[in-house]
Amino acid sequence: MKSHAKAVVIGGGVVGCSVLYHLAKSGWTDIMLIERSELTSGSSWHAAGGFHTLNGDPNVAKLQAYTVQLYKEIEEISGQSCSLHLTGGVMMADTPERMDFLRLAHAKGRYLGMDTELITPSEAKAMFPLMDETNFVGAMWDPVEGHLDPSGTTHAYAKAARKLGAEIVLRNRVVELTQEVDGTWNVVTERGTVKAEHVVNCGGLWAREIGRMVGVELPVLAMEHMYLLTEPMPEVEEFNKSTGREMIGVLDFKGEIYTRQERNGILLGTYEKACKPWSPVSTPWDFGHELLQPDIDRIAPSLEIGFKHFPGIEKAGIKQIINGPFTFALDGNPLVGPVQGLTNFWCACAVMAGFSQGGGVGLALSNWMVHGDPGFDVWGMDVARFGEWATLRYTNAKVRENYSRRFSIRFPNEELPAARPAQTTPLYDTMIANNAVMGDSWGLETPLWFAPRGSEPKDVVSFHRSNDFRPIGEEVRATRARVGVTEIANFAKYEVSGPGAEDFLNRLMTNRMPKTGRIVLTPMLNEFGRLIGDFTIAKAGPRGGEERFMIWGSSAAQKYHMRWFEKHLPKDGSIRIHRFDQTLVGLSIAGPKSRDLLQKLVDVDISTKAFRFMDFREMAVGGAPCMVNRITYTGDLGYEIWMAPAYQRLVYKAIKEAGEEFGLVDFGMRALLSMRLEKNFPTWFRELRPIYGPFEGSMDRFIKLEKNDFIGREAAAKEQAEGPKLRRVSFIVDAADADVMGDEPIWAKVGGKDYGTVEKPHGYGAPRFDAGGKEVRGSNAAEGASAVRGIVDGNWRVVGWVTSGGYAHYVEKSMAQGYVPAALAENESAGLFEIEILGHRRPARINVEPPFDPSGEKMRT
Ligand SMILES: Cc1cc2nc3c(=O)[nH]c(=O)nc-3n(C[C@H](O)[C@H](O)[C@H](O)COP(=O)(O)OP(=O)(O)OC[C@H]3O[C@@H](n4cnc5c(N)ncnc54)[C@H](O)[C@@H]3O)c2cc1C
Repeated sequence: MKSHAKAVVIGGGVVGCSVLYHLAKSGWTDIMLIERSELTSGSSWHAAGGFHTLNGDPNVAKLQAYTVQLYKEIEEISGQSCSLHLTGGVMMADTPERMDFLRLAHAKGRYLGMDTELITPSEAKAMFPLMDETNFVGAMWDPVEGHLDPSGTTHAYAKAARKLGAEIVLRNRVVELTQEVDGTWNVVTERGTVKAEHVVNCGGLWAREIGRMVGVELPVLAMEHMYLLTEPMPEVEEFNKSTGREMIGVLDFKGEIYTRQERNGILLGTYEKACKPWSPVSTPWDFGHELLQPDIDRIAPSLEIGFKHFPGIEKAGIKQIINGPFTFALDGNPLVGPVQGLTNFWCACAVMAGFSQGGGVGLALSNWMVHGDPGFDVWGMDVARFGEWATLRYTNAKVRENYSRRFSIRFPNEELPAARPAQTTPLYDTMIANNAVMGDSWGLETPLWFAPRGSEPKDVVSFHRSNDFRPIGEEVRATRARVGVTEIANFAKYEVSGPGAEDFLNRLMTNRMPKTGRIVLTPMLNEFGRLIGDFTIAKAGPRGGEERFMIWGSSAAQKYHMRWFEKHLPKDGSIRIHRFDQTLVGLSIAGPKSRDLLQKLVDVDISTKAFRFMDFREMAVGGAPCMVNRITYTGDLGYEIWMAPAYQRLVYKAIKEAGEEFGLVDFGMRALLSMRLEKNFPTWFRELRPIYGPFEGSMDRFIKLEKNDFIGREAAAKEQAEGPKLRRVSFIVDAADADVMGDEPIWAKVGGKDYGTVEKPHGYGAPRFDAGGKEVRGSNAAEGASAVRGIVDGNWRVVGWVTSGGYAHYVEKSMAQGYVPAALAENESAGLFEIEILGHRRPARINVEPPFDPSGEKMRT
């Protein structure tokens, strides 16, 4: 075993071996993988080996598609077979709601390059004759599904990595990790210490223990999982003989089960409701190649449904029940990337579908380590997406919830209850007393809407407009007509201070920093000129002679952004960044009477001239020390008021009392989002994401190319000079009783004209590999996208995708935002566009100017 390596990968499961292979392929050959026992000594050896491309997050779906493509390549390089069976598979819907869900998934596939097809239950039965098709209303066929040999596949990655120069050390446990002042890691193993620049945690079932070696509690938990194997079945053999094909894979939402052919019998696995965590606090180091005791009672309810839906299987004898543990994060997607607060400590763990996701995880992580950027939009699996609130117990509750709903539909207005409430503000009880329906916003309880007195504050979950529609409309109309107040504690808040703070921010942000007492809005770019943040920044008065800036951004991106800020901080410690989290909370008041209301609570002049639009001021509100921004996301006259939590009740009470004479109402997050729609305002993570450039995102007026050399400036200048290929636009949609949710395809009547590539950009900027293993380097979001099949319908084509939308209650219009080719972005013609909502194409029209207050007069008043 060598004593130095550029990178040490801990763990020889399918994920560790994939990371090793991808690092070697990227040119890092001074690397080693250290495995406690033999390869596949965690979950990997007893996996059912199934793979598929579909995922709720389209970006993760793309990485799954890459994984499936990769198997041929590693087989060729290693000479080791993965025993690939590309059978295809179906998802079966038993209710109209589940069919709506499949329609949505199919619609998304239109711009993702997926070949899915909606089929009848009888068509599904023809490919899997063991089912009773009368239990179902429809199905979706996906040709890119199948199964493989988990052990062979892990060894194929390992052999391919070795061939490229990587070292693999077996039967040697990593027992400790320490870091030198210069950043070098000491990887202490049973057989000596290895000095490494980078450490990757691919510990699978022990990922949590490896995290603890560096003081990090990763939100990951192993669950017991069972699947059964039947004796050989004559029906299966007969089908194979008569058709010359294998039976396909089937996913049954209702039973939370999956089934497929295995040899000449059937494999059937369950995600049972009465699920069970395995080793919930710590994983024993001596756990090896053993299976857990099967518990047939636990899976009996799922089997009952399974045997009803697939009566052909019930008749077969059960040969074996496998029960093994594997790990999950809170939302079922992996934890990948550098851990915020540590240097060169990387994660690739909580990979619950190693054979669907392992390749994509390896590719993204190796890009990140070698080139400083994952090269893809990997937010859906970024280790930074969970906050400190994801403690051991929180994780336990959420993972169990996620497991038991593995194949359940999550409705767009559905809030999941487990582990809540976690964080609350001082106003929580008041909001509950006000009949608020609360939602989870990055672990914080936040009012979504207020149910009428006397009614139960609860969402009726649906893909269609629901019981919140009317109350939200009332909140919006009252705010626009008079004044409303809402909690905004769920924004991210930071303070940047120290000599040179302004230069530091000017280097990170695309807009010029404001003068003292003023506010700017500014995107942030990565080196490839892609959008990685969107902030409100105010310059506060100096403290102790030091420059001081307040920053507000997306709550969910707090760790993601802190990781970026810390990476770019000067090493001499001269600039400090403080993340407030819930030590700073807020209230926003908006509407034409908001100034009159606020004036009653402050002792300074806040008239139009004295406190202008985009001004920032520290002032006492209702007697409490606060910071006030003259800006709101409603796009109306309004204010954001920030205070320490100890003052929040005082300020709220003062606002409520002073607001009585103006007819003040409470409004929630959903009303706020409705109001931003009618102003064409974008949201971070929906409209703005790292797959888009700033001009594609229509953020032109916030990009000051001439100000100074900021990160991403060169790429942004190129994007501007060449002209963006895509543009973010707003639509008014002729919707019926359902509005867009996001990810719907946008159709245009373009006749024979070609407006360019329409596949949603996925890879960007950073180097990556093409299907042939050749390194490619691109700079435009649309680059690398391939032609999409099945998107032409006569003169109509799919030309883009929706990012978000909903009902804009004040202007009484259904609205959507999304991306279309730049050549179409200003074409407001009626009859040109249609947006597919739940399988129905609805007429839509681009609206260049926002329908509410297009001149911005109201917010500037
Ligand atoms: C019953 C069952 C069925 C499944 N079916 C499927 C399926 O159909 N499709 C699918 O995609 N996935 C399936 N899975 C999940 C799949 O097995 C996992 O996604 C995958 O194995 C995760 O791989 P990994 O490399 O992250 O972790 P692991 O396989 O757990 O590997 C981690 C490795 O790290 C090593 N290690 C840990 N700590 C140390 C240390 N300190 N020093 C050195 N080495 C260390 C361990 O020995 C182990 O070999 C199934 C799992 C189970 C249990």
